[in-house]
Amino acid sequence: MRRVSIFGATGSIGQNTLDLIARAPDAYRVVALSGGGNIDQLARDAISHRAEIAVTAYEDRLPDLKSALAGTGVEAAAGEAALIEAASRPADWVMSAIVGAAGIAPGFAALEQGATLALANKESLVAAGQLLLATAASHGARILPVDSEHSAVFQALVGEDIAEVERVIITASGGGLRHWPIEKLAHATPEDAGAHPNWDMGQRITIDSASMFNKALELIETREYFGISPAQIETIIHPQSLIHALVGFRDGALMAHLGPPDMRHAIGYALYWPKRQDLPVARLDLAQIAQLQFEAPDLARFPALRLARDVMEMRGGAGAAFNAAKEVALDAFLAREIGFMDMAAVVEETLAALSKELTLSNPLETLADVLAMNHLARVRARSVISVQIKKT
Ligand code: NDP
Ligand code: MG
Repeated sequence: MRRVSIFGATGSIGQNTLDLIARAPDAYRVVALSGGGNIDQLARDAISHRAEIAVTAYEDRLPDLKSALAGTGVEAAAGEAALIEAASRPADWVMSAIVGAAGIAPGFAALEQGATLALANKESLVAAGQLLLATAASHGARILPVDSEHSAVFQALVGEDIAEVERVIITASGGGLRHWPIEKLAHATPEDAGAHPNWDMGQRITIDSASMFNKALELIETREYFGISPAQIETIIHPQSLIHALVGFRDGALMAHLGPPDMRHAIGYALYWPKRQDLPVARLDLAQIAQLQFEAPDLARFPALRLARDVMEMRGGAGAAFNAAKEVALDAFLAREIGFMDMAAVVEETLAALSKELTLSNPLETLADVLAMNHLARVRARSVISVQIKKT
């Protein structure tokens, strides 16, 4: 029996992971499940999957979780330290699917105990890429990408030599506002940006898709995970989201990975790797699809893509700062303090402010350095936002 833990179990990726695990309950022993505020879901899943422990990220919700689990034999815990403790419990396979920088530390704890880390939390690679890979290597642990584009690249590279890769092309749907005239984008609300044409995902990543901050994070992830240079990483808008990524080789061959927009494919690939198993995902009917569309992204519409280039060049602490500023800008957009296009302006100004006080390209040596940079960039982004609000 494989021992598995799922961090962010109550979210979109977490629920899809549990869906796959529930199809072969005898094959798995569920060690830990974590959630945030959705205590009912967390308790229900912990009971039905007979988890050893359920952890909510929020300490003030512990009494609710305890009462929901009373008499079931499932341990209840809460808070950041409890998440780390749960991630340190021996497991063979750990899903990292907490949203945001809060998912970074549990991923490190899972690698340190030697588990295979199925990585959906893109913020981990963006903020701590080099350190995360080094931690995996020094503990004999493996990181398998779950973000669909990176799973696609990973699959296209099976049996290939990375040295022969000429370029990697990450596809982007263009998000929910792709058809909006550029002048109107400044007035987009969280509701406008929170609907995705193809994928059913959490609210934050859906809005990040509309602003292409999601794609920006994915370009940085590609640079960090596969170790290829920024000049070799491209992005193209492909509104149908059927090709998830393409890998071009030195002989001009381009390998594309196609599949329906269903995250259970990428999750299942990471769960069964290095084998493949039957998966309950739709099969593509190419005759019915008939055509695949592509267009070049407009950098004026999507300034996040331009910022991602700078971050990929700088590396070091730039990724942690970029991600933290993006998270704060997204919070402010959700709170209607700033507009849709202001998010990129906030991130750009935060990076500029930080560059005046420190060298962003300096490597982050420890997890504490990553978390300190995350904290500092959040504080600076908040001040950038206060200045912006005063101006308007
Ligand atoms: P959701 O918003 O659906 O779920 C997020 C999960 O994290 C929930 O379990 C939530 O708990 C928990 N959570 C929220 N805040 C905190 C916190 N501060 N501390 C600890 N846990 C917290 O997100 P998704 O499932 O969409 O995304 C998860 C990660 O995977 C993100 O990093 C995203 O970028 C990435 N990803 C997602 C894809 C998708 O298709 N959804 C595709 C590729 C990558 P609760 O709901 O109980 O509050
Ligand atoms: Mg993706």
